Amino acid sequence: MFGGNLFKRVLCCCSIAVCCCIVCVAVLYYPASVTEGPAHRPVAAPVSVTQPETTRLVPTTTQPPATTQPPTTAPATQPPSTVPPTTKAPDFSYALSALQVVPTHTEKYTYEQMQADLQTLCSRYPDQLSLSVFGTSVDGRDLYCVRLGSSAAQRCILVQSTIHGREYMNTMLTMKLLEYYLYYYDTGFYDGVRYADIFEDTAVYIVPMLNPDGASISQSGLNGLRSEALRQQVRQIYQQDTTIDQNEMSFSEYLRKWKSNANGVDLNRNFAKGFGVQSNHTAPGHEKYQGPQPESEPETQSIIRLAASLPGLQGTLSFHSYGSMLYWECDQTGSYRRLCYNYAQLMRDLTGYRILGADGVPFMGSFADHVISRGIPNVTIETGNVNTPLPLSEFNRIFAETRQTIAAAAVYFASR
Ligand SMILES: [Zn+2]
Repeated sequence: MFGGNLFKRVLCCCSIAVCCCIVCVAVLYYPASVTEGPAHRPVAAPVSVTQPETTRLVPTTTQPPATTQPPTTAPATQPPSTVPPTTKAPDFSYALSALQVVPTHTEKYTYEQMQADLQTLCSRYPDQLSLSVFGTSVDGRDLYCVRLGSSAAQRCILVQSTIHGREYMNTMLTMKLLEYYLYYYDTGFYDGVRYADIFEDTAVYIVPMLNPDGASISQSGLNGLRSEALRQQVRQIYQQDTTIDQNEMSFSEYLRKWKSNANGVDLNRNFAKGFGVQSNHTAPGHEKYQGPQPESEPETQSIIRLAASLPGLQGTLSFHSYGSMLYWECDQTGSYRRLCYNYAQLMRDLTGYRILGADGVPFMGSFADHVISRGIPNVTIETGNVNTPLPLSEFNRIFAETRQTIAAAAVYFASR
């Protein structure tokens, strides 16, 4: 159970009251759905700054009908090298400006910033948040999980992001989404249900940065590592990768594109289900090396223990980048397959992202494979339209596209 021996409680939240003003509340009533264009790309609903009441629409997104049949074959899955930008995104800058804790003006949202923001949020919202450490990275960083909602909730969902280092903008995204739900806890809605009621019924456990060492390497190069021994190891990985795999990137660019953990293991290939099926890398590298054996890495082991310990875990969301796409499929069958597909459809309706299949390979050692094979539906949300690390210019649109995803997932599984 969360809060048991597995975890050490790291913060006692003090009671600093925060009230939500009426003006700020008004920004909640954006249309939650998007209008699909001819290529299923979202057309963002206009947002009125001066007359927010005129945009007060009841969100139209609902669960897909239970009879919806998933496709029997996976569609083409290779992400395009470039993705056409979505149509004009709404300007959410004024909505974000009401949220003062998590900064979104920096391109490199760091592990240290996340730590500070988690503590600030827990101080401001002591009744809604609980922060725990559920493991330690290779380079000695604590792995954080924050619970949004009630500890007495009978069910929960798990949200994880930045299992790949260079996709660290998703840490800023999940942190900002967390702050968003907290700020509007009593006054914001999804599908007509108050956020407070949603999260008191279905708690949300958020791991905003599962691979802090990899994110730090991508952001700061070798200076992102605390251990000199690990710095030397990364130098050797680069030299070896350049020799064996004909890597042609400069060292600095190689580090900027780093996806793995500090051991050069791609954590999203390190899970036991499908281990080694898709990866043909035989040595550590900045991406795609599955590791010496299944679940060899402490980050992998920690998230497995965390997921196993959560009470009533119903579903997961995984944030990756890039492509504005959704993955949901492994080899599910029957009613479970429909449950998973309808979950993906819900996310498609909210974000406007395309649903893709599993590339013809049932499992590949990913986190999604791990949970899906244990009866826990997962949707992987690939944010962003350009290659990673994503530029800051992507953030506001991504926030707008994903704003309701966590609340919607909680509602979806509440009626399961
Ligand atoms: Zn990824």
